[in-house]
Amino acid sequence: MIQSIAATIPRLLAQAGRQEGEIRGIGVSIPGEIDPSKGICLQSPRFGWKNLAFAELLAASVHVPVWIDDDVNAFAVAQRLFGVGRDHHNFAALAVGAGIGCSLVIKGEIYHGSHSAAGKLGHITSVANGRLCECGRHGCLMAHASESYMLNEWQSRTGSSISRDEFASCVEQKDHLALSILSDCGTRIGSHLADVVNLFDPEIIVVGGEAVQFGDALLVPIRKTMVEFTFFSKPELVADWVPSSRARGAAALATQGIFDFEREPSG
Ligand SMILES: [Zn+2]
Repeated sequence: MIQSIAATIPRLLAQAGRQEGEIRGIGVSIPGEIDPSKGICLQSPRFGWKNLAFAELLAASVHVPVWIDDDVNAFAVAQRLFGVGRDHHNFAALAVGAGIGCSLVIKGEIYHGSHSAAGKLGHITSVANGRLCECGRHGCLMAHASESYMLNEWQSRTGSSISRDEFASCVEQKDHLALSILSDCGTRIGSHLADVVNLFDPEIIVVGGEAVQFGDALLVPIRKTMVEFTFFSKPELVADWVPSSRARGAAALATQGIFDFEREPSG
């Protein structure tokens, strides 16, 4: 993976019409538990990594500073620098796609927690003894509401498999089953999101991740259930996601790193 990233850089430079010497730093967003100050991927169940000195290894290949963070945190950093976070000091950044996460920005800073494991909404137990999650535990929210769950649910209810694109076009055509699956997932996500609101009282929640493509079919039940289960504040829920948002998140890590004098790059 690290070699692939290093090998991609000359091609990206050519596409952008830039020279190698113009690179000031590289940001990489990774699904997992990341220690951004040390540039270490503590674990990434999706990639099977543990205690990988990712930033140092990549920096040794590319000879520029490297910043890494969890992919949802990277989305939140991008929102803080370029999105809704410009106007809000306390907000939550919910992402729904292959996984589910909800990063918290408190007083303008990403809250990483004591072990770089804050914001892991997707690994909150949602169904006791439920489906196997990629983390190895059972019943996590993301095992019952992420995109792979949606596709599996379609398969188990119809007996035929469906690709993500096919599912997306079923949603667009307002297929009853697809809408029902999204409604169930949105309701489940919204109920746990309400807990986040009750604990952290964010000013606003921005939603990203590939599943934002499913639009109101997913967002309306998330919003409705969140409002139903929050006891006092009812923060606005806004969607902000384009296909390049993951890349923008990674770029935001480097931007933040370069302009944040309190943090040193790894490598
Ligand atoms: Zn899990």
